[in-house]
Amino acid sequence: MPDPFDYDLFVIGAGSGGVRASRIAAGHGARVAIAEEYRIGGTCVIRGCVPKKMLVYASMFADELHHARNKGWTIGDASFDWATLRDFVNSDVDRLEGLYGNTLGSAGVESFAERAVITGPNTLRLASGREISAAHILIATGSWPVMPDFAGAEHCITSNEVFHLEEFPQRMVVMGGGYIAVEFAGVFNALGSKVTLVNRSETILRSYEQGIVERLPPIMQARGMDLQFNARIEHVTKLDDGSLRVTLSNGAVIDADQVLVATGRAPNTAGLGLENAGIALGSKGEIPVDAFSRTSCENIYAVGDVTDRVQLTPVAILEGHAFADTVFGGKPRKVDHATIPTAVFSQPSIASVGLTEEQARQQYSEINIYTSDFRPMKNIFSPRMERGFYKMVVDGASDRVLGLHMIGPESAEILQSAAIAIKAGLTKADFDDTTAIHPTMAEELVLLKQVAGCNALL
Ligand code: NDP
Repeated sequence: MPDPFDYDLFVIGAGSGGVRASRIAAGHGARVAIAEEYRIGGTCVIRGCVPKKMLVYASMFADELHHARNKGWTIGDASFDWATLRDFVNSDVDRLEGLYGNTLGSAGVESFAERAVITGPNTLRLASGREISAAHILIATGSWPVMPDFAGAEHCITSNEVFHLEEFPQRMVVMGGGYIAVEFAGVFNALGSKVTLVNRSETILRSYEQGIVERLPPIMQARGMDLQFNARIEHVTKLDDGSLRVTLSNGAVIDADQVLVATGRAPNTAGLGLENAGIALGSKGEIPVDAFSRTSCENIYAVGDVTDRVQLTPVAILEGHAFADTVFGGKPRKVDHATIPTAVFSQPSIASVGLTEEQARQQYSEINIYTSDFRPMKNIFSPRMERGFYKMVVDGASDRVLGLHMIGPESAEILQSAAIAIKAGLTKADFDDTTAIHPTMAEELVLLKQVAGCNALL
């Protein structure tokens, strides 16, 4: 009997989640096609994690050069050329995009470089007009930067544009206090911009452990950034010389070459045709799904940022993989959205896994806190007195480690292995039983000391 559908699976969106799901489903024997209207790789590869991390690395050379010069190295006139770095980063993005395309091709996934719209529970229409049918549809369209409504917002950029700036911004205003704002503020500051970060609340990185986060603003200020808290951008005016005049709600007026707005990302669902399959959006504009990433339409699934569960690339990848195993591999799998390690590539970086102290105190009756406040040896080469700070949250009854939060050089690299131990349910005693690697920053993880008075029964 001929198959009633053109494909077993049609994926909309070739980002991290969509590509992983396509490849794994094809590996399970499914006939898979994928549509991408922009570039294969999605936000992470094309205009997110990957080029951002390259800029972070490149911006850190400034410090290294400076510190080396003070410690015996003779370094000639060092200068920085934005166009060279920008073009290098973008050429590597091109390379990675090619690799992603190859991955799809070698997995036997058919790619359409155009937009796809859902026209029914099993049907889609491509921008070219071609009608397609599929037994299953996966929506993996990601998210898009939110631009708040203020006068002159059209003069501002988002993280979509920041990798392509013609000129290096000597003065930059960054709006927001989340991952993107903090990371790019650090990058442009280190590269030489005069950076002003403006956030509506009294802090940054509100979802993180505040005992860790509170260490960052003084460091950012000491590194030359101006932080404007409890402030919003009221309006932005373009001046005759092309620069931007930014007026804040607290009355401050700042002239800048670029204004980067990073106030969150919203699920990318506009014009997808969801109504044609009877799928209604959730309160934040997300596609609601069950634990297997299934939408309210039986054969349509969604993974990644578009579902607004946890907006992180590795989570989208896990969700895409679990979907493919569940639907095409005969191995039903749910993604565990608890205990997800994450990092902010600020300078210094912040990394975190598990419960914050505040969350733990709401869920457990007895909490012990262990910390280490230390000066990383590497920082001795710097005239700045920046310290590292690690904080461990432990269940007093079982000694199980519930959370670990860090600020300091290489935090993300150090946290990843510790996250395995925490996900596996190891105890503080297990950490203490582990021999330190000396001298390292990571050894602080097995040397954490209890904070007196922090084990009170609530
Ligand atoms: P976040 O959700 O991290 O932070 C948004 C920030 O913008 C907050 O400081 C918030 O203020 C502020 N804000 C929100 N709405 C408004 C508004 N209407 N007006 C003024 N300020 C506002 O968003 P990002 O854009 O930084 O990042 C988006 C997502 O991308 C993140 O959730 C993260 O998952 C992902 N990401 C992850 C990275 C990583 O893993 N390293 C790197 C980059 C992005 P406040 O909370 O103080 O009220």
